[in-house]
Amino acid sequence: MISSGQDKYLLIPDKVFDGEVMHNGWVVLIEGNRIIKVGQRSTLSDLEGVTEIKMEGHTLIPGLIEGHAHILLYPYNQTTWNDQVLKESDAYRVAKATIHAKNTLMAGYTTLRDLGSEGAEYADVGIKKAINDGIIPGPRMLVAGPAIVATGSYGPKGFDPAHAMPLGAQEADGSELFKVVREQIGKGADFVKVYADYRWGIKEETMPTFTLSELQLIVDIATSSGRPVVAHASSPEAIRRAVEAGVETIEHGNYATMESFLLMKKKNVSYCPTLAASESIAQYKGWKKGEDPMPEGIIEKKKAFSNALKSGVSICAGGDVGVFEHGNNVLELELMVEYGMTDLEVLKSATSGNARIFHLNTELGHIKEGFLADIVAVKGDPTKGISVLRHVSWVMKDGIVYKNELGRKE
Ligand SMILES: [Zn+2]
Repeated sequence: MISSGQDKYLLIPDKVFDGEVMHNGWVVLIEGNRIIKVGQRSTLSDLEGVTEIKMEGHTLIPGLIEGHAHILLYPYNQTTWNDQVLKESDAYRVAKATIHAKNTLMAGYTTLRDLGSEGAEYADVGIKKAINDGIIPGPRMLVAGPAIVATGSYGPKGFDPAHAMPLGAQEADGSELFKVVREQIGKGADFVKVYADYRWGIKEETMPTFTLSELQLIVDIATSSGRPVVAHASSPEAIRRAVEAGVETIEHGNYATMESFLLMKKKNVSYCPTLAASESIAQYKGWKKGEDPMPEGIIEKKKAFSNALKSGVSICAGGDVGVFEHGNNVLELELMVEYGMTDLEVLKSATSGNARIFHLNTELGHIKEGFLADIVAVKGDPTKGISVLRHVSWVMKDGIVYKNELGRKE
């Protein structure tokens, strides 16, 4: 932490991206943890006692929002998912997660939606509190807790069936869902995450798990408390059930069809493609991008994403970070451009778009008067090349400056 958050700052960059549109020559006035004024400097009066921060060559953007993260996981090419879940203690995993949280914030991500602790119970709830209490640096978090899976569907698998093994999520079925959904809410889940399908087919192919009525029950119970439900779903049938049941986002959608996306659009459900996870896993399995032919899974994913764009479904920016390195979140945004979106569309998706999808857009995702002071300065113009987001010089969250490398020569 570099500043206390009590000062009044006038930020003077080259440009300001307000979450929707780029503005040349704008300045931003901050007091405490709020944005007080935005616009041309000539329109601002009463600037006495204000600390000016010149940001030559920089663009200000709203703090980025990560749509799909697992703060308690780290790349599977370092330690397999099975070993992270089965062999590592929660204490060890939490120690690593504090570093992940810091790296996320330093990369310009001031908000993160965490999609499940993957066997670490409610450690995500505790990490969120430690960040909010100012004990460790990290992004604002929306957390799922353990997430819910149908009995028998999830891993780790392949052990003597006589023994109960630790699992990556909480099992529940039928009427048990009343209790488990309410229990997860009571223990701190901001939303409920369900696995509507998983690789539990006879040949380990992706097949639906919960029935439509089970998913409807989960949505009924969660929404009674004002919490949304989000679904891991790759197969068209699981997507159909989850969307019909009333979930708000579909995660992965690897085999989603045009019909899937049109249904999602009709029901106002957003698509979180997790392109970076698919590409990372393919590379862990040996794929050399740019040299080897594209693996089947990547071909499918590209097809799904292109149909999503054609359908007009709203796209959430979320990479499934944890599968790849925390702090490298921008990889997802680069792939969204590579797979067919414009730089501007991707930048909107990772700021105002995600804020809207996660119900945060009254305070976050925009540089706007009255909004929370979550602001990032990047060197260059990210609407002319999204990779500019890798050059984060300055990070403010809730009016506090966590990173300041403005003077640094590259
Ligand atoms: Zn995930």
